[in-house]
Amino acid sequence: MKSITKQKPVEEIQQLLEGLDRVFIAGCGTCATMTKTGGVDEVAAMKQSLEAMDKLVTGTIVIPTACDDMTSDTLEQNKLAIDSANAILVMSCALGVHRISMYIKKPVIPALDTLFIGLEDKLGEYHEVCDQCGQCVLGETAGICPITACHKSLLNGPCGGTNDGKCEVDKNRDCAWTLIHSRLAEQKRLELMKKYQPPKNNQVVPRPRVVKIT
Ligand code: SF4
Ligand code: SF4
Repeated sequence: MKSITKQKPVEEIQQLLEGLDRVFIAGCGTCATMTKTGGVDEVAAMKQSLEAMDKLVTGTIVIPTACDDMTSDTLEQNKLAIDSANAILVMSCALGVHRISMYIKKPVIPALDTLFIGLEDKLGEYHEVCDQCGQCVLGETAGICPITACHKSLLNGPCGGTNDGKCEVDKNRDCAWTLIHSRLAEQKRLELMKKYQPPKNNQVVPRPRVVKIT
């Protein structure tokens, strides 16, 4: 599982850093390295981009796993360079940005957009598998998520536009509900296709949500 990110446009990063001329750059050695958005090479390229914008880069680091609580130690080891910056540009997913913001009072600026949680299909290619909807139906859809695999996120069967097993929205993609149907048939559990899935509960819930493991 990976947190999939893409780099923000340079113009947006420039705008976010307006008035902040001394910048420390932090990448992430886990997901953002795998997706080539915040590893050693990308951090080095970002340093060059910032210097081209006349920013002073006070230091760079690729934190082993930016969302991990060990990040506080890595930041402490880079205290001098961080202290002399007036912002930290973070090249990790939003979890890493949050984590770093817990320890640093200066502006913490994301250089990446966090897109989704994904699995790697082949080297360098990821697909979205879960939208963290909070009410998982995979047990009744043969392990295929109708929220992320269906273009319309339909919970109760196909839309009617399925054509030869392909999606009506994108003919290059398999229809999620055809896949679900085929797999349920293989499992001899086709009766699940008739099961009504109530609409997702989108009632306002207290945020942030908290889970306590006891
Ligand atoms: S139904 Fe889909 S989006 Fe919801 S939790 Fe399960 S895999 Fe994630
Ligand atoms: S054709 Fe299939 S995948 Fe596409 S929107 Fe309709 S049900 Fe969803």
